[in-house]
Amino acid sequence: MKVSIPLHSRRELLLGVALAGRAAESRDVDYFADNGFGNPSSTLQHPTGVNHNGATYIAYQGPHEDSYVAAYHHASHKWSGPVLAGVNLMGKSPDPVENKDLDNHGKPAMMVDKKGYIHVVFGAHGGSPILGKNTLGTPGSLRGGKFTHIVSKNPEDITAWVKLENISPFGTYPQFVQMDNGDLYLFYRHGAHRSDWVYQKSVDFGRTFQPPVSILKHKAQQSNPAVHDSWYAWFAKGHGETITASHVYHLCENPGHTNERSNTYFMRMNTRDGSWVNAAGEKLTISVTKEYADRKTLIFDTGTERCSHGTCRVDSNGNPHVNFRYGKGQVRYCRWTGTEWTKPTPIFPDGGASDGDLVVESPTSARMILTSRNGDTAEVGWWKTIDGGTTWSKEPPILAKPGGSYDIGALIENFDQDAVILLSEEIPADYLYRRMILLSNKGPVKRPAVDASYIQDKLKALRDAGVEPETKESRAVSKPNKKRKGA
Ligand code: ZN
Repeated sequence: MKVSIPLHSRRELLLGVALAGRAAESRDVDYFADNGFGNPSSTLQHPTGVNHNGATYIAYQGPHEDSYVAAYHHASHKWSGPVLAGVNLMGKSPDPVENKDLDNHGKPAMMVDKKGYIHVVFGAHGGSPILGKNTLGTPGSLRGGKFTHIVSKNPEDITAWVKLENISPFGTYPQFVQMDNGDLYLFYRHGAHRSDWVYQKSVDFGRTFQPPVSILKHKAQQSNPAVHDSWYAWFAKGHGETITASHVYHLCENPGHTNERSNTYFMRMNTRDGSWVNAAGEKLTISVTKEYADRKTLIFDTGTERCSHGTCRVDSNGNPHVNFRYGKGQVRYCRWTGTEWTKPTPIFPDGGASDGDLVVESPTSARMILTSRNGDTAEVGWWKTIDGGTTWSKEPPILAKPGGSYDIGALIENFDQDAVILLSEEIPADYLYRRMILLSNKGPVKRPAVDASYIQDKLKALRDAGVEPETKESRAVSKPNKKRKGA
């Protein structure tokens, strides 16, 4: 006998199955999305999160190296998104499964302006030469993408985006700084390695930007034109109307290119007139060359030891506190006392920390949130000094996972205890997809698994096709991408 189920009942039946599925997946997970991709965020593209009017907005690199934006609403503990906000011209389809096939430089930085509009800049590794002549450096490769600025169509709303053609196409490492009066500064490197670091200023909430102003100069060395002076820089709001710039030097040699980086430098802009000074307040002439920087703005000469950029924050006197990564994975810290730089001290006595950001509580007390390894366990947590950086003590980790692996970026702009910093977690079986975690001071901000799940179909397709995920071992033997290595 044929049993006919009325249409409305069938719908209910299907709905019931779907709801049962949802119930099974309604457990809370530590991540808000599983579709981070490659290296979804880092300190050189920042902020990647902004706390604005009760919500934390987050931008990160997802599938196809595109820019995704999500929002966490603090009072309701509800999430919006992530949504695909901007398509990256450097992305590949289908998604690569080996890290060497990613560029990773097109990941986004973001800012929420004083009117509540959300700005994202992304999509380039110096821009492509087909975009025209780069007068402040060398463009990227033909696959160098296009530096792109998008803005939310409506304030505090991540659902719709508008592209604005108001910044140079030749950029990479976007970094936003917003002043108290609403002026927006976009800092970035104006092209590939052999390019100046510049900023563009907007006094109308990012609707138009003034032309790029060069502040760190790239140039061929006189003694050997095959060697160029180059930089990696980090910018943040300082005290009052100032912006800090902490940076390291890159000796860019071709052929024989390496990822050499050395020395640490500091300078500061007064946004009232665009002038720059060193830590001692001595006026500087920009754009700053290597020779000039060595004389005027050097914090510490690291000799032949590799030294990567870190972050910089200021105390109530406006004095900078900086961190950088020096030697074998050692995050080191020093500060300007008002008359001199203190000796850089390792926060970990024996290395083991990878990256993080700094909060300055007083001229002699500061805390750093770091990713680190404790044996096989990956940890994320705070380290604290109360003696001006001479000694550091570890607070109990906020997050600890045996066998885990986390990447960290800069602190959420204007963060509070409920949403401190963005992390990505590597899951070896998930190919190059990463779980995105918003960390509070108590642990990850939770979300129902069903709402955090975006790549299950992609994973299934790859597994069904028998594609093996890349492992640390297979990555090590796969051909290194030299161009990207030093980029
Ligand atoms: Zn180089």
